[in-house]
Amino acid sequence: MLQFDVVIIGAGAAGLMCAAQSGYRGRKVAIVDMGKKVGRKILISGGGRCNFTNENASPENYLCANPHFVKSSLSRYSQHDFIELVDRHGLNYHHKTLGQLFCDNSAQDIVDILMTECEWAGVEVFLRNEVLNVERDEQGLYIVTTSEHTFSCTSLVVASGGLTMPKLGATPIGYKIAEQFGLNLLPTTAALVPFTLHDHDKARFEGLSGISVDSLVTSDDGTQFRENILFTHRGLSGPAILQISSFWRAGQAVSINLLPDTNVAELLHDWRQNQGQKSVKNLLGQLLPKRFVDALINDNSVPDKPANQLTHGEIDTIAATLTAWQIKPNGTEGYRTAEVTLGGVDSDELSSKTFEAKKAKGLYFIGEVTEVTGWLGGYNFQYAWSSGWACGQVC
Ligand code: FAD
Repeated sequence: MLQFDVVIIGAGAAGLMCAAQSGYRGRKVAIVDMGKKVGRKILISGGGRCNFTNENASPENYLCANPHFVKSSLSRYSQHDFIELVDRHGLNYHHKTLGQLFCDNSAQDIVDILMTECEWAGVEVFLRNEVLNVERDEQGLYIVTTSEHTFSCTSLVVASGGLTMPKLGATPIGYKIAEQFGLNLLPTTAALVPFTLHDHDKARFEGLSGISVDSLVTSDDGTQFRENILFTHRGLSGPAILQISSFWRAGQAVSINLLPDTNVAELLHDWRQNQGQKSVKNLLGQLLPKRFVDALINDNSVPDKPANQLTHGEIDTIAATLTAWQIKPNGTEGYRTAEVTLGGVDSDELSSKTFEAKKAKGLYFIGEVTEVTGWLGGYNFQYAWSSGWACGQVC
């Protein structure tokens, strides 16, 4: 039996941050992971450049049943603290859009920083160790059985992530441990994920794959995101779609404004008046990708005629089509391509300051295994750093 003060399940973003913090406090820390490398999701994130935080991160950027839950950890270890850490390690990075920070070279740089911190803090890393079982003995110690070893510890930190990307070692072990110790789970589903479309919609948009349009997308509950949408072979993706997917529920439609900066009805009246000989198709082609306009004309959403022949009714219909385009996805691409898992360990079961389970002393849940889900844009890693740091101060 290997004896440690702290065992952390999961060498991802949250687990590595927590391990270093706890180690710096003089705790004997083991971090166990079933993978053959640490930080596998960090390595593939942000197209290999890891969008490691967002300059504007604040509690409003997170979905959680208790909206106050993230406030404490995000304020005690904010994006500015993580930026200070990477600056100290000399990381080269750049600002992209909307406050997103990316590595200049490679996501490996972030993993290297975390591993350097873990090394300095004396953390022992056990890779290729799949956690199979957790028990608590009569003295209150946690006994963790992996495919290779048995560990005992006073503090057990579950940082095993969600269900996304099963190929990268996602397992439900964290949820099983939570259930075993009587903690409530909120239903899980794939989020930050592309939509799939019904066959009739797929047929309408065949040939548009690869086209993107700057749009304002609105969900049923009124949540809005202004970013690109992207047509794919299966349906719709792009940052605006990934964002809204976290707010979408099966059966609902999303409304897409394809020309959010334009008063479309006014513009069409102007065209009718001043550019009447030109076809609607050519005029719209100046504002939207031509292939997309062709698709709207082919399925009769927009009439193919000179602008001066448009009736008032047709102008209203075209304006509605372009500013409140209703798309009813038939589902999402699921955990296979999703960036995060919505739902998980109920935040009401955890201390927002320490992430300790209220029902089990010495048992902690951090990162994506909890029900907290950030928007797209570096917010999910920031929550992993913040929750990992906060837990590392006490575990
Ligand atoms: P994870 O990083 O998932 O780590 C959990 C670890 O637990 C894994 O290493 C896993 O092997 C291990 N584990 C699981 N079960 C067991 C078991 N039974 N035994 C042992 N070990 C186990 N977020 C951003 O903020 N910015 C981005 O740019 C970004 N890009 C992304 C791109 C992709 C393709 C994906 C899938 C996600 C992206 N995310 C991004 C989300 C981000 O990766 C996650 O929010 C974050 O990794 C969660 O960290 P975590 O430490 O909680 O869990």
